[in-house]
Amino acid sequence: MKTTSVRVNAEAAEAIRAGQPVIPKDSVRDMSVFGAEGTLLRLEDPTGRYVATGYHGQQNKGAGWVLSRNERETIDREFFSRKIREAADRRNPFFENPDTTAFRVFNGEGDGIGGMTIDHYEGHWMVSWYSEGIYSMRQFVYESLKEMPGVLSVHEKKRFDLKGRYMEQDDFVSGKQPEFPLIVKENGMNFAVDLNDGAMTGIFLDQRDVRKAIRDEYAEGRSVLNTFSYTGAFSVAAALGGASGTVSVDLAKRSLPKTIEQFAVNGIDYEAQDIVVMDVFDYFRYARRKELEFDLVVLDPPSFARSKKRTFSAAKDYANLLEDVLAITAKGGIVVASTNHAGFGMKKFRTFIDKAFQTSGRKYRILKEYRLPEDFRTPRNSPESDYLKVAVIKADS
Ligand code: SAH
Repeated sequence: MKTTSVRVNAEAAEAIRAGQPVIPKDSVRDMSVFGAEGTLLRLEDPTGRYVATGYHGQQNKGAGWVLSRNERETIDREFFSRKIREAADRRNPFFENPDTTAFRVFNGEGDGIGGMTIDHYEGHWMVSWYSEGIYSMRQFVYESLKEMPGVLSVHEKKRFDLKGRYMEQDDFVSGKQPEFPLIVKENGMNFAVDLNDGAMTGIFLDQRDVRKAIRDEYAEGRSVLNTFSYTGAFSVAAALGGASGTVSVDLAKRSLPKTIEQFAVNGIDYEAQDIVVMDVFDYFRYARRKELEFDLVVLDPPSFARSKKRTFSAAKDYANLLEDVLAITAKGGIVVASTNHAGFGMKKFRTFIDKAFQTSGRKYRILKEYRLPEDFRTPRNSPESDYLKVAVIKADS
């Protein structure tokens, strides 16, 4: 493979030496020095001394990723194979747990190769690619997976160059394709997933610990509102945990059949649950008018959303959104507030929470906070990689 020497500025050289995995776009004056997508880079400091080996692959996060800080290490099939094997070995407890059959095997930069992730769904593996650069190296990964024991099939998700939407395409790569929906287990709950149906699979694996907590600790006897509910996975957890009722609200029409399916595969009577296809902001207005109140509200919006009526950004609008939630949260109720926005940390998130409660004139206590689960391994010195922030909040008076 072609390697290009690139001098990065002193600031980037220092950060990368300290463990930062991303190669910043502004580490060079002109990005053209990185060459074509997928070019291997010998990164040097301004004096020409070796810093790290990386590759060029443009994502919103940066211009590429560091692969090694050892000048003599070659980046080849064996390198990929070893990284994947090491990552899988770290997940041994997951492979051995019959109650959870869906989990992340390889978490990008956290396992040493930024720009790609690999998820395991009941023996069927799904590789997500975040840049053209890393995708150009896919054969290294697919050949490595051929040698892994227990890989029944491989699917892929191309998450780059989407121009705002996921293209209609066949995501099947190799092996014996299962019938979809495939039923996976998570802490004993069932979830229907489809690895060949657009950008998402039906479940977000990073919320595993939160679903378990909702089922085991927070749902019993409570009326539950699940906003931005997607396939209703949090609602399923709440219903299994003994919620007195659930309401799932999502704008997407597909959320209705998908949510029915998730309830059904868990033996829950979906007709006893409410599934509402509606803009969450309209639902808040409706609920206030009807004077509805909920004992447990789950709030897990996308980081950014654009609908005909408005644009939403978690960084700008989270406090307002939480205020809307508080207006229909019962005294003593619980709010599970979640965000996957990589652009701010837990501290900032707590200020949004505080602001919403201040404005609403209510007292609160954060009962517990959740971050990414163990299989979503993140590197040190990469706060952006550690994107998930969840607070379980008791809304007192
Ligand atoms: N909380 C879900 C994942 C949410 S994904 C889970 O853990 O499974 C984000 C969802 O928000 C998508 O399903 C999308 O359709 C929905 N969405 C985006 N904007 C919305 C809006 N204004 N009102 C309702 N749903 C919205």
